[in-house]
Amino acid sequence: MSAKDADFEAFSAIQRIKQEQGDSLVILAHHYQRMEIVELGDFAGDSFELSRRAAAKKDARFIVFCGVHFMAESAAILAGENQVVQIPDMNAGCPMADMADLVSVSRAWEEIGSVLDTKKLVPIVYVNSDASLKAFTGRNRGCSCTSANAQKAITWAFEKGEKVLFFPDEHLGRNSGNALGLPTDEMIVWKSNEPLGGNTAQDIERARLILWDGFCHVHTNFTPAHIEQARKKFPDAKIIVHPECPQEVVKLADASGSTSRIIRFVEEAPSGSTIIVGTEFNLVQRLNITTPEKVVMPLARSACPNMAKITLGKLLHTLQNLGTFNVVKVDPATKKDAALALDRMLALAG
Ligand code: SF4
Repeated sequence: MSAKDADFEAFSAIQRIKQEQGDSLVILAHHYQRMEIVELGDFAGDSFELSRRAAAKKDARFIVFCGVHFMAESAAILAGENQVVQIPDMNAGCPMADMADLVSVSRAWEEIGSVLDTKKLVPIVYVNSDASLKAFTGRNRGCSCTSANAQKAITWAFEKGEKVLFFPDEHLGRNSGNALGLPTDEMIVWKSNEPLGGNTAQDIERARLILWDGFCHVHTNFTPAHIEQARKKFPDAKIIVHPECPQEVVKLADASGSTSRIIRFVEEAPSGSTIIVGTEFNLVQRLNITTPEKVVMPLARSACPNMAKITLGKLLHTLQNLGTFNVVKVDPATKKDAALALDRMLALAG
């Protein structure tokens, strides 16, 4: 059987299982998934929208998450007792999420505590992180955020304390700080392998936003040179990029925003426009197909290999083994504390 025939068979078989399961099954697909997976999803969205869906879908016994592991884990934290969350490939991880762990974040917290009272400090954890970090954040009066509501989360945190520890994505934190008008010298980077994060005690005392030095390789791939080339080649085009891009790229673009914001930007652009997008390639490609009256192009071709690990074959196998294969579990104590951080995020809205 050719690969195309196998995909067609898998697609049809998945549709049949969906029909048989009805409301007891919900398939959530992240926007960076390949086209056919998005088509089979009951909902497509960014991590914020999918967290909301996962929290709201209490009638579904099985939640199958087509995305990377931390997203399925967030769904498992928000899921009810009788719900099972599965992911078609347990190895679909996120390198950025792996750039911060409980040991190094707890150490940073203690080191900052040697300079100032941590009662002044509020942790904000990007959802691209392990459940144990969401639990740490929940226990320490903090909040989760996504790229859709990072600015709101930081504003919320400044109402609760004087300083914010933002992890693991430096760029989302810095771009959000810039958008909120924080002066450059009030944002410092915490290098997790250096004493005091590579800062002096004075730096820490002066800082309002302490940024972990994590990054997404898909988005740091975009450079100011890409924007300059795009402007030369397509002078009438609008350029929008994701806030996980470095600040130099965000500053040169016409706009920046989460995947949902990027989708809205493309949909609301006048017919005949050219839009150049700096985010994961699968989403850009799909936008070009779904908005045929506009030209949507990638700023550069940058795809997430982990998102691509979810295939039709793996999704079918998961659906054929509902409730048993690749079940995502979070221990009850972690779940309880992590839910505090996620619930605070959901209360903030997008
Ligand atoms: S696109 Fe970046 S942040 Fe998202 S899953 Fe891939 S590596 Fe992680």
